[in-house]
Amino acid sequence: DEVVGAHALGKTYAEGRMHTPVFDGLDLTVAAGETVAILGASGAGKSTLLHLLGGLDTPTAGEVYVAGQRMSTLSDADRGRLRNRALGFVYQFHHLLPEFTALENVMLPVLLSGAGVPDAAARARALLEGVGLGHRLEHKPGELSGGERQRAAVARALVNRPACVLGDEPTGNLDEKTAATVFELMLELNRAERTSLVLVTHDRSLARRLDRVLELHEGRLREISPASA
Ligand code: ADP
Ligand code: ADP
Repeated sequence: DEVVGAHALGKTYAEGRMHTPVFDGLDLTVAAGETVAILGASGAGKSTLLHLLGGLDTPTAGEVYVAGQRMSTLSDADRGRLRNRALGFVYQFHHLLPEFTALENVMLPVLLSGAGVPDAAARARALLEGVGLGHRLEHKPGELSGGERQRAAVARALVNRPACVLGDEPTGNLDEKTAATVFELMLELNRAERTSLVLVTHDRSLARRLDRVLELHEGRLREISPASA
């Protein structure tokens, strides 16, 4: 029941840093419903790993599997569809589209998956209500607070009921209290829907709350016990 997997994964950037691999031969299996924290120093390759898992970048070695599908064998269009259906992304900075309302931003992934407008609106509204933004549906990102924007981004990541949410410092840009709220929201989703979470974070107190903690160091993923994170 692997939802996301990396097998003998390697990445070397062609430019800069003298072609040193960021990592090579990296293995990772994320099971359905599992929550995984990825720790590591700045520059260790955490974002690179997350981009590869999400199909946003291509590995120079090895394979990524998402929902049982081998990413490298898919066309760009099929990879995009799989990403939209099976994965949700949350970044440190929200990446909401500024000219659209919160409701429209959350509707977008549903529309991209082929649903009609009424269905997309109903699901987006339910999600936004679920993250406490029922009173902010018609607001544009610029009219929301930082925490509200990030909650809207979480709603957008979840609206297609992805098997796995990939988060790159999803709470890194928020004050402690708001970060805790957004984090709890993701844990609730994990409990309610069995959505797997793979979260890159610097925050060890958050990492400790997940099932597994992995530290990326010198190109290797080391499993550490959550209690000692
Ligand atoms: P982290 O997320 O852990 O801070 P990154 O994945 O961003 O680490 O970066 C890992 C290494 O790869 C760093 O040495 C970084 O400079 C390098 N790197 C990241 N992106 C690129 C790129 N587009 N081109 C060249 N080197 C890159
Ligand atoms: P960057 O130069 O950091 O890639 P972008 O504006 O292209 O800047 O992307 C910003 C963020 O959005 C990055 O974390 C990137 O990986 C992510 N991103 C880019 N394209 C997509 C996409 N098609 N779907 C989801 N996330 C994406």
